Amino acid sequence: MKIRNLTLSESTSFGYSSNCFLLCSGDECAVVDPSIECDDILSAAALRDCRIKYIILTHGHFDHMHALDALKKATGAPVYIHKNDAKCLTDPAFSLYSYFGYPETVFDAADVLLEGGEVLPLGDESISVIYTPGHTPGCICLLCGESMLTGDTLFDMSVGRYDFPRSDGVKLRESIKMLYNDYPKVKIYPGHGGASYMELQIKKNPFTRGLGKAD
Ligand SMILES: [Zn+2]
Ligand SMILES: [Zn+2]
Repeated sequence: MKIRNLTLSESTSFGYSSNCFLLCSGDECAVVDPSIECDDILSAAALRDCRIKYIILTHGHFDHMHALDALKKATGAPVYIHKNDAKCLTDPAFSLYSYFGYPETVFDAADVLLEGGEVLPLGDESISVIYTPGHTPGCICLLCGESMLTGDTLFDMSVGRYDFPRSDGVKLRESIKMLYNDYPKVKIYPGHGGASYMELQIKKNPFTRGLGKAD
C-alpha cells in the first residue's frame, strides 16, 4: 500500500497543520483525516487514478476533519470513525472547536461507526483498525501492511495530549504499551509531524519510558 502525506507534499494550504494521508492500493484509495482543502485531496486522488473508497478519521478532533463534508459530497465515500468519538462530528464541544475558540463547526453524522478489529479491504490489500483510547475515547490507529498511522496517539518522540476534557492519560499509556508490544517493527505515520519507526520510539521516546521492552 502506498502512503502519502498530502499535508507535506500536495497541500496548497496548511489547514490546522495535522497530517492528511492518502492510502492507495490498485485503483482504490482511502483518505485519512481530511484536514486540508477538499480540492487538494481530490486532485491527489485523480493524479493517481484512484477512486476514494473510504474517509477515515483517526479520532474526532477539529484539526483532523476540516474537509469532511465537502469530500463526502464530492465523492460519495462513507465516513468512518470510532463509535466513542461519533459525537465529535455533530458537537463542537466534543471536537474542541469551542475549546480552542475557533468558529463552531458541525458535520454530517458518520456513516460507519467502528469498534476496533475491523479489516477494510482496499485494492488488493487491507487496512486494519486498532482501538487505542486515551487522547480521546475513540482514537484508532490504522495498520497498513508494515506501516501504521498512529493519529494523535503516538508521535515521533512525543505522545498525544491527555489534558483535554475527554482524554485519559492512563488509557493512553496502556494503548501505547500495547502498540509497542504488538507492533514493534512497523513504520509509523503520526497525525502531526514526520514519520518514524516504532522501534525508535520504544528506545528513545522520552514520554513513553518503561512502556517498551527494548531498554
Ligand atoms: Zn487530537
Ligand atoms: Zn491533532
